[in-house]
Amino acid sequence: MVRRVACALALASCAATAAPLKVDEVARGVFVHQGATLVLDAPGHDDIANIGFVVGQRCVAVIDTGGSVRTGRALRESISAHTKLPVCYVINTHVHVDHVLGNAAFKDDKPAFVGSAALGPAIEASRRYFVEHYPDDVETSAQIVGPDTAVATTRELDLGGRTLTLRAFPKAHTDSDMTVFVGDVGLLWTGDLLFIGRVPALDGSAKGWLAAIDELAKTHPKFVVPGHGPVSHDLAAALAPERRYLETLVEGVRKEIADGKPIEDATAHVGQSEKANWQLFDTANAHNVSLVYRELEWE
Ligand SMILES: [Zn+2]
Repeated sequence: MVRRVACALALASCAATAAPLKVDEVARGVFVHQGATLVLDAPGHDDIANIGFVVGQRCVAVIDTGGSVRTGRALRESISAHTKLPVCYVINTHVHVDHVLGNAAFKDDKPAFVGSAALGPAIEASRRYFVEHYPDDVETSAQIVGPDTAVATTRELDLGGRTLTLRAFPKAHTDSDMTVFVGDVGLLWTGDLLFIGRVPALDGSAKGWLAAIDELAKTHPKFVVPGHGPVSHDLAAALAPERRYLETLVEGVRKEIADGKPIEDATAHVGQSEKANWQLFDTANAHNVSLVYRELEWE
């Protein structure tokens, strides 16, 4: 708490004392910090998502900023340790706290904040919730920084000598999902359209997510950075368990609805065959099932 007050009073000195976040250069000039596998209210919950940065000849693009201003500052320190080039873009793959609450740490760089066209409204709708539920991770509402650059379908960003291709998706994991492709090294950064190891958390549309998986499966990157879990070199293999899990939920819920079962029965039963396949399964499965039930009950 003392540190939080000190940070609020003297942002600069607080930023200077942040220890750099550990990052790995997974492809030339692409640095990834792999988040921990923790539940959303555990100590360290502000460092559970994969976040990182891409270095061009002219400037740096950050991809997701972590679950607190503190984590964002630690990522900024990592960038400083690797390059003196300026940060020109901060890209958010979707609205979830573990990917966006570090944005304020990059305000002084005056980058373009880039997200899908749905991200801005989604952040505005969540602003109050974020401040009330994550008081240790953001100090003020003003520290919740939404995008000023919206991507409706696709967009290219030039970092000097390398180009990022952004692609926004219809409602899937959330309503604001966007992927980043680093073409010169063949690296796809999926955000939470891909979970590896950690149980997928649905906050959008199961049918939309399965459609997004079909779209991703048409691409053939050499490197895949998921939203959670280790970097992969085999996108098809990485997508398979997630597709199986979501199909299990859709098929299971359809059967419960056809049998006239209420939502409580569905959340108790559906998906249990997947339990051994996923980390933190019990923290998300019942909620996922309830969303799938609401999505499918009128189809
Ligand atoms: Zn997410």
